[in-house]
Amino acid sequence: MSSKNTAIIIGGGISGKLAARVLSDHYKEVFILERDQEPAGPSPRKGAPQGEHLHALLHAGEYGLEELFPGITEDFYQSGAVKINSTNDLAWYHHGAWKVRYDGGYSTTLQTRPHLEWHIDKYIKRIPNVVFYYNKVVQEFIYNEKLNQIIGVQLKDESILADLVVDASGFSSLTSSWLNKREILVPNEKVEINLSYISKQFQLSENIDRDWKIKLVYPNPPHEKVGGTLSKVEDNRYIVTLMGYHNAINDKEVLKSDESFLELAKTLPKQDIYQEIKNATPLSKTFIYRIPQIIWKRFDKVNLPKGLLLIGDTFCRIDPVFGQGMSIAVLEALELQKLLKKHKGDLHKVPMAFHKRAAKIISPIWNMVITEDFRYPATKGKKPFGLSVQQWYAKNIFLLSSQNQGVYDSFIKVMNLVRPITSLMKPSIIKSVLKFTFSKFRKS
Ligand SMILES: Cc1cc2nc3c(=O)[nH]c(=O)nc-3n(C[C@H](O)[C@H](O)[C@H](O)COP(=O)(O)OP(=O)(O)OC[C@H]3O[C@@H](n4cnc5c(N)ncnc54)[C@H](O)[C@@H]3O)c2cc1C
Repeated sequence: MSSKNTAIIIGGGISGKLAARVLSDHYKEVFILERDQEPAGPSPRKGAPQGEHLHALLHAGEYGLEELFPGITEDFYQSGAVKINSTNDLAWYHHGAWKVRYDGGYSTTLQTRPHLEWHIDKYIKRIPNVVFYYNKVVQEFIYNEKLNQIIGVQLKDESILADLVVDASGFSSLTSSWLNKREILVPNEKVEINLSYISKQFQLSENIDRDWKIKLVYPNPPHEKVGGTLSKVEDNRYIVTLMGYHNAINDKEVLKSDESFLELAKTLPKQDIYQEIKNATPLSKTFIYRIPQIIWKRFDKVNLPKGLLLIGDTFCRIDPVFGQGMSIAVLEALELQKLLKKHKGDLHKVPMAFHKRAAKIISPIWNMVITEDFRYPATKGKKPFGLSVQQWYAKNIFLLSSQNQGVYDSFIKVMNLVRPITSLMKPSIIKSVLKFTFSKFRKS
């Protein structure tokens, strides 16, 4: 293949597909190179094993997907995704209290990750200048030293040249080690959380009293380390995902049998999930995924060769408990779209500008997440500035969300990445937090 206005994307996961969507407006041809086989339908893939676990799509992700693929949300529902009232149908036990339930007027879509990806695939395959190649493992970059430019990729038996190479290969990306070999050291922010995810699908018994569609039982740190979620997904199935920080889950034990999964569910701070699944029919085996550390590679802080752009989990792998990874990928794709329009005549300016903008998207989310992760003394890494004040304030917001609808409404918008975290610092909320703190102080 010749190199003429071509963009190559390494990895056909969520961010690879989203990058293809926005690049297709500016490049004559866009090739997605994915190492997996083509999935036959909405089924999990070897290259994205996290697809066996619950994947929440936040409002920012849902709205952005609709912007990029008009009609996709309705398509989700047509093939069985579950539309819920975001605040009424969510039962959330958080920091030792249940959140208020009310009709906030917005909805959330519950579905499995393979179902979501399968729909994106269908939209991608309708774009005439995007070609999706499966069974293509990228092994190396092709680099022109004189130009200091990545000019293509090397596969086992072929090389493909391109004007732009996008690395969307996620956690196993080859970029960092390739750069290391050339003595370009990418600064990393790493936080060790030793988190395990254990998931299984169930058919629940009919229960007319069940007044929720998704239930979250989060651990109250630092003493509680194990939590769980139970979510309805397509085909009237439910996914149960149990998670434990700092090796709190004995992985080998829980994988032994259906009973050992139930035993683990029994150890959650609330028995609700156990009660629902103790007589339910298991529909899958038990899947495990370990996340020893989360990592944000600061590609925005180094001088990269030209022609290389990093996106999605390649850039930052965040604690999945907050359900943000796919929505970050969507926000990044929208940002990339803006930059491609801005630098239309001069596309080589896009990668560097993009890495800076992506860092701006990631920074507040990273800060919010690690503020929570550092509630466990065993968490290791660089602590954010003003950690104890942030933790104190956030804890009060969490607790107030169990009794004050206005505060919860603001919090849920921040959690869904549709409002900045600073919106939780507006005077009325600060006043509520202070009043709440003093009332606790008076009672004690
Ligand atoms: C257990 C778990 C639960 C999660 N839950 C949520 C959630 O609730 N909500 C949420 O939004 N996010 C969640 N996430 C995060 C989410 O899965 C990721 O953020 C998202 O998948 C990132 O997409 P990506 O395309 O960047 O990377 P990936 O999904 O990892 O895709 C990378 C792709 O690149 C391919 N690839 C890799 N190397 C090569 C190569 N050399 N050549 C060709 N192809 C290659 C892989 O096969 C894969 O298809 C969770 C993550 C985990 C681990």
